Amino acid sequence: GMPAASGDGCLPGRVLKVHGLYSYVEMEDGRIFRCAVRRLLKSLLTDERSIVTTGDRVWFRPSGTGAAAAEGEATPSPTPALTTVPNEGMIERVEPRHGVLTRASRRREHVLVANVDQLVIVMSLVQPDLKPHLIDRYTASAEKGGLAPIICLNKADLADATELQPLIGAYSQLGIPTVLTSARTGFGVPRLRELLRGRATVFSGQSGVGKSSLLNAVQPDLALRVKTVSDSNQKGRHTTTTAELIRLEFGGWVVDTPGVRQLQLWDTRPEEVEGYLRDFRPFVPLCAFPDCTHTHEARCAVKAAVARHLINDRRYHSYLGMFHGVAED
Ligand code: GDP
Ligand code: ZN
Repeated sequence: GMPAASGDGCLPGRVLKVHGLYSYVEMEDGRIFRCAVRRLLKSLLTDERSIVTTGDRVWFRPSGTGAAAAEGEATPSPTPALTTVPNEGMIERVEPRHGVLTRASRRREHVLVANVDQLVIVMSLVQPDLKPHLIDRYTASAEKGGLAPIICLNKADLADATELQPLIGAYSQLGIPTVLTSARTGFGVPRLRELLRGRATVFSGQSGVGKSSLLNAVQPDLALRVKTVSDSNQKGRHTTTTAELIRLEFGGWVVDTPGVRQLQLWDTRPEEVEGYLRDFRPFVPLCAFPDCTHTHEARCAVKAAVARHLINDRRYHSYLGMFHGVAED
């Protein structure tokens, strides 16, 4: 992790939430500081709203009671409440971001959360039925957002999963972890916790697959605090605009993300989709035509790879669905 303090007396932390002029910054030991942002830092950046955002890793200078706390006199409260934080400080620097979730507002992308590590794609085996093409769509969205995908197949208590071995095998070959769970019986939940530990995670999936139930199985009452990302026809439904990192008691965070649009492919150009399918990437440069769409063209390396089973036939059909679906939108 980060060193305990920098030479100039600044401490490292992570922004849990931004509220008005203040950012709530958490140190690795759980202490929370309410921080303002250095004016100079503001003027260096053009987009005022994105100076400091939820998830940012920052360096801050403690002040007042917070300075004493930073020297170790105060003990962290076991359940820090964001509203009653005595420690204060000033954010001096923001680390470069990765894994940014954005929301498109009128003319530009507005950063909602920075440094998100992974996307848990929740699917149910039944009720609603498993839709493998939807998994591919979500994995592509994860790649687009720079997040590592994790596939969670839920409601394992309701269906026999043995027939799913080829599907699960195909994703593990792509380096995408797959976990079989039941929020009802608790099956697979310890493994899911292990995948969440120490990371910042967004939960996504269709309505009814069990996202809320799984969050509560991971940690009691977690679903009350976390909105999840649902697919399709939800545009404009979320009105809140502040994102928050919710701390997991076993380490890590679940990201509460209102209004995320980047996790949908609607605003992706069809010709970009290939780039978000990691199994396609090695073959794309080998196509005869540089603008090959891998649909109808001659001497297409992607189609050749499908014919030789180097790319899964099912994934290719998902690609065609995404390509045409995106084109229609
Ligand atoms: P969400 O819309 O994705 O948040 O889904 P919910 O968590 O609200 O779950 C939808 C329905 O599925 C509820 O009736 C849950 O009780 C049920 N459910 C969720 N997970 C499981 C599971 O693992 N097994 C069974 N049998 N039912 C589940
Ligand atoms: Zn091609």
